Amino acid sequence: MSQTLKAVRGTRDLLPPETALWNRIESTARSVFARYNFGEIRTPVFEDTALFARSVGEETDIVSKEMYTWEDRARAQSEKTQTLTLRPENTAGVVRAYIEHKLGETGQLQKLYYIGPQFRRERPQKGRYRQFSQIGAEVIGPPSAGSESPLRDAEVLEMLATLLDELGIKGWTLELNSVGSAADRERYNQTLREALIPLAPKMCVDCRRRAVTNPLRVLDCKVPEDQPIIETLPRIYDSLDEASKAHFAAVTATLDAAGVPYTRNHRLVRGLDYYTRTTFEFTHGGLGAQNALLGGGRYDGLSEAIGGPRAPGIGFAMGEDRLVLTLLAQELNQKSAPPQVDAYIAPLGESLNSAALALARELRHTGLYIELGEGSFRLKKSFEAADKTARSIVILGEDELQSGILTVKTFATGVQTKVPRAELAAFLAEPLKG
Ligand code: AMP
Repeated sequence: MSQTLKAVRGTRDLLPPETALWNRIESTARSVFARYNFGEIRTPVFEDTALFARSVGEETDIVSKEMYTWEDRARAQSEKTQTLTLRPENTAGVVRAYIEHKLGETGQLQKLYYIGPQFRRERPQKGRYRQFSQIGAEVIGPPSAGSESPLRDAEVLEMLATLLDELGIKGWTLELNSVGSAADRERYNQTLREALIPLAPKMCVDCRRRAVTNPLRVLDCKVPEDQPIIETLPRIYDSLDEASKAHFAAVTATLDAAGVPYTRNHRLVRGLDYYTRTTFEFTHGGLGAQNALLGGGRYDGLSEAIGGPRAPGIGFAMGEDRLVLTLLAQELNQKSAPPQVDAYIAPLGESLNSAALALARELRHTGLYIELGEGSFRLKKSFEAADKTARSIVILGEDELQSGILTVKTFATGVQTKVPRAELAAFLAEPLKG
């Protein structure tokens, strides 16, 4: 016998009823984004590898070890063999599209959102997959359009607070920091590197390497023994210049005025190289080790780093898988929702199957949710199936078909009612009866 094939490690099938929750999350996100005047962008799932190397950064975990990359052989003389990568995140693709379509020339701020799969070869665990879905948005444009304004940062954060609240996520925390300008970061990197010289030998192997290659990453270390050492390191805020400090102060003042709660996290420097100034994460205690619901920040130099015009921006990416996990855990503590299906139609005998489909069609066209049974079932089996899926059962036998009077049983009340066919849709639409 041949071996059974399974979904690849780190990937999953999403099945009903859970997919209904995914759809609800996506439609809530679309509705909130529309109210803030964002439009949807859809970029390709794979891109030139160089895009990620130049934006996310060669030294990051994503680029150095997590990307799905392959040589895409030329199929014709006019083509050349390229190195391609499944997108590990979507900001780089959005900024590439912004440049490619010369969106900056409109002189307007571009407010774009996306929903779609991303791919990283990470070690799978709860809340961490190799294919996962992100819902994200970017605000990007020329400085003349106000793209550097701290108001944009605050508006994005306020929108996220609104979205999480509308999704019904309870108990989120907004963690906020500033990593300053590229020059500030360079200065801080230097300060950190010097501070780490005497300390690194006492730290984990990763930190010893990062102390040399990318000292900022030391702040992400999760090894418990390293934590007291990391607490003694200089803080990035003290390396910020006056302009970056003023920008951050304006972001926090605007959030305060809007009543959006946040906490300062001096170690939040994020795993991607392109961030400047504001960085943030929304975390949730119920998620365990992978506690970030979403992350984001400002990236004032990203467009130029990939060959575009000056186009400061700010954006975020939410882990849709983690929103689902959080909402499922919350719903576990609540009473399970009643069945969505309004009625189950039970034909009494196979000769009534086609009449049953015609009745189902009639009712579905009025907007009702209908499950169609099967005439070969005995009545008892139809009742059992109906009770599991629907709020009521409609019996369709030869007599009912001739007389046009149908028998409906409502499970919540146990009441059985005779209903003329012309009134059936209205009867079923009334939840207390149907
Ligand atoms: P990042 O693009 O790394 O800033 O991640 C943004 C958000 O995407 C995180 O806060 C997570 O919610 C989610 N995320 C990142 N990587 C994964 C993954 N491997 N599996 C599931 N969600 C992820």
